[in-house]
Amino acid sequence: MSAENGGSIVSILTENRVFPPPPEFAAKSHVSSLEQYESLWNRAKDDPEGFWGEMAQTLQWSKPWEKVLDWNPPFAKWFVGGELNASVNCVDRHAAGPNKDKAAIIWEGEPGEKRVLTYQDLLVEVSRFANVLKGLGVVKGDVVAIYMPMIPELVIAVLACARIGAPHTVVFGGFSAEALAGRIQDCQAKVLVTADGGFRRGKVVPLKENADGAAAVCPSLKAVVVAKRTGHDIAMTAGRDHWWHDLAAKASSDCPAESLDSEHPLYILYTSGSTGKPKGILHTTGGYLLGAALTTKWVFDLKDDDVYFCTADIGWVTGHSYLVYGPLANGATSVMYEGAPNWPDEGRFWKIIQEYKVSILYTAPTAIRAFMKWGEQFPKSYDLSSLRLLGSVGEPINPEAWMWYHRVIGGERCPIVDTWWQTETGSIMIAPMPGATPTIPGSATRPLPGIVPEVVTRDGKPVGVNEGGFLVIKQPWPSMLRTLYGDDERYKSTYWSEVPGCYFTGDGARRDEHGNFWIMGRVDDVLNVAGHRLSTMEVESALVSHPKVAEAAVVGKPDELRGQAISAFVTLETGQEASEALRQELRAHVVKEIGALARPDDIRFTESLPKTRSGKIMRRLLRDVAAGRESSGDTSTLEDLSVLAKLKEEDEV
Ligand code: ATP
Ligand code: MG
Repeated sequence: MSAENGGSIVSILTENRVFPPPPEFAAKSHVSSLEQYESLWNRAKDDPEGFWGEMAQTLQWSKPWEKVLDWNPPFAKWFVGGELNASVNCVDRHAAGPNKDKAAIIWEGEPGEKRVLTYQDLLVEVSRFANVLKGLGVVKGDVVAIYMPMIPELVIAVLACARIGAPHTVVFGGFSAEALAGRIQDCQAKVLVTADGGFRRGKVVPLKENADGAAAVCPSLKAVVVAKRTGHDIAMTAGRDHWWHDLAAKASSDCPAESLDSEHPLYILYTSGSTGKPKGILHTTGGYLLGAALTTKWVFDLKDDDVYFCTADIGWVTGHSYLVYGPLANGATSVMYEGAPNWPDEGRFWKIIQEYKVSILYTAPTAIRAFMKWGEQFPKSYDLSSLRLLGSVGEPINPEAWMWYHRVIGGERCPIVDTWWQTETGSIMIAPMPGATPTIPGSATRPLPGIVPEVVTRDGKPVGVNEGGFLVIKQPWPSMLRTLYGDDERYKSTYWSEVPGCYFTGDGARRDEHGNFWIMGRVDDVLNVAGHRLSTMEVESALVSHPKVAEAAVVGKPDELRGQAISAFVTLETGQEASEALRQELRAHVVKEIGALARPDDIRFTESLPKTRSGKIMRRLLRDVAAGRESSGDTSTLEDLSVLAKLKEEDEV
């Protein structure tokens, strides 16, 4: 990365639309004014240990901690000496109270089946499966890999691991046998929990076949447990493979939970790898659970009667923190859907929301842009009046996508929480508190209490108001990653060496005069045009604000004169035609929106953009296409390889 401008990034996007919390919403919220938010934030900043110690009282501990924080940079221990169990916090304590018959999980399969698990049901199933794992020889500290479709057994397996202190590593069901094997080998998992298959767009995903491919090259695996989902024929290896239902039928439903040290590893999760080789992020029990639980309550303003729908797969951190641990720790009702948003048609999510009267929806910009592309007629044919709050996560949300979400899905009444965080941070870091913080399209707004971010130059100096720079976090927080599994050195060099004394997020940002943060995308995606460092997000947002554009990605390509020229890849709204005239119109539109500096040098129209399996645009691959060179980096996390091949073909025409 160049050190020009001291590493700062020029910001050229202006956004003036501001949406204060609706008064009726604020009146009923947990945090209901900006003053209340600010006093919480200041208190946490001045006395972090006092603050976090008080917050941690909301969890159920089997042994109190002696010390809130032991900080030996960059290694943190939270709630030192304390003991607890995550499954007890997520299940037992609700099953023992007035919520025992409340739905914990409302599940819908892609073909349409429904299943409801109350907290009491969940306790029985989790305990039973914990005994199944024990019966297979799993003991505290053994890693269990989970490779499953989005079915209730996935949640049960995760919580069963937590119950006996076996760290889980969930591998997204869309990954290949090789990707699964790489992850199992890295963490030396002892047992693999999978299913015969899952349903996706009406087809069977051959999970067991992939699991077999992985198991063949993973000697650490002693057993494979297979849940029956699709019922199609699969091969079972005698002595190694077991049907879930056979083992469960023989297991007791009573399994006392292990009292675990606060720092006992809860899980390892490999990041999606938008930027390279996946990293095994390690999260531990007490701090992580506190972060997930507290932020779910604050950011989603969660109430006892909410029906909460997070559309993320549990294979990603969003599913871990905001489908499993966060909502369940709060005793909430979570909706879980197995399949694709466009199956059997593009109205599926809206049908689910209507049917279960979902009040909180949490999804990703990539999904929102797809909904926009498909058209308003789908959401418009369902009753979405039960919704009261909307969330977004995963990428910067382009202001036009935000406005569409606000208008079409939120009926102009639901606050939108744009939540910035990472697999590494464990829980949401920067986001509105919806009853307190005015929201602005494209801004994640303010840091949550206890979180102290700053925008700095490469050498750690704070930049001025509205100047772009590197987003760093200045104080440790409970749900931070503890290390990269088995690689403390890579942990140090990736996160703690880039900017002295701070956690380096790898994202660019600016902070405006009101203290709102604007995430500008990954720093390694930043454009460098004639010495000006520009954010991809800002140029893309200008393109997406054109009514004919559905989605855009911009990258720099080598240019002798200016260092880099801007290359844009654009997908159009359904029904729009690509043409030279439109290309000119788009270039002029960007100039009008944000200035001549950002004018794309070339624009290519494409059917789709290369994305990670979690739906993020992979600009690294587009940079290679734009420069006309072969892709050198890892493509195992790419969702659909044909997209890349097609882009190259289109390029040759
Ligand atoms: P890898 O680190 O392996 O390249 P990844 O960064 O895509 O993968 P995640 O941890 O799932 O894996 O994603 C975190 C990143 O996603 C953030 O660093 C940021 O770039 C982006 N992101 C997430 N939420 C937001 C948001 N609300 N606004 C802007 N960017 C976001
Ligand atoms: Mg990352």
